[in-house]
Amino acid sequence: KLVSREFKREGTIIEVGGVKIGGKKLAIMAGPCAVERLELTVGIAHEVKSAGATVLRGGAYKPRTSPYSFQGLGREGLDYLVEAKKQTGLPVVSEILDTRDIELFLEKADIIQIGARNMQNFELLKEVGAYDKPVLLKRGLSATIKEFLLSAEYIMSRGNRNVMLCERGIRTFETQYRNTLDLAAIPTLKELSHLPVIVDPSHATGKWNLVAPMSKAAVAAGADGLLIEVHSNPECALCDGEESIKPSKFKELMHDLSNIARAV
Ligand code: PEP
Ligand code: MN
Repeated sequence: KLVSREFKREGTIIEVGGVKIGGKKLAIMAGPCAVERLELTVGIAHEVKSAGATVLRGGAYKPRTSPYSFQGLGREGLDYLVEAKKQTGLPVVSEILDTRDIELFLEKADIIQIGARNMQNFELLKEVGAYDKPVLLKRGLSATIKEFLLSAEYIMSRGNRNVMLCERGIRTFETQYRNTLDLAAIPTLKELSHLPVIVDPSHATGKWNLVAPMSKAAVAAGADGLLIEVHSNPECALCDGEESIKPSKFKELMHDLSNIARAV
């Protein structure tokens, strides 16, 4: 299989706007869960950049459990990300929900995110597989490692070799936190596949105070990068404020991580 270590021995390095993902340096993707106001988005982008982030995250199209929750700004949200990129130089990652938006994402995003809920949306996988735009594929809520890798294979088999795998926690019997971060998935995926492995400690826990310890654990376990939700005013965030850390906390975490990354 194209995703496997047997097919390709050396780890894949994906270049996005001058940033290498999968190489020696940790890739840090940070930003709000959802793109909200322009000034807020640009402000957070500047803060995460100065703290050491290499990619800006932000959802313009949000896959919400309730139809009454904020659904994202859509096209306008992508424009805010483009403006934030213009001002900070940070490439952007954003989630696509619909194959009909592919042209829009090819133009405005540097990395296309496939969310956990769409890990087995095979038409969407085939669509992003038809281009060489980097893809961040998130593990499904209850997907096995095998199923996860087969979804990546869907993308790669269409021609796109720029795929990153993202462990974002799985559903277990535990209800204390939102999901259970599968730390063993990190070395397992690295062993089975040559693709970069990114960990999302925010959705994996659903709790801001667990983001730092799980980030450290993920880096110690060999993650190539992290996807972290940062918001300057989490209490007022339109989505996932309870798992978002403030820029000051993010800065502190970046400092602590540099020591761990050196030791791995
Ligand atoms: C996200 O990263 O914005 C997101 C919705 O995450 P997940 O698909 O992992 O739930
Ligand atoms: Mn979120």
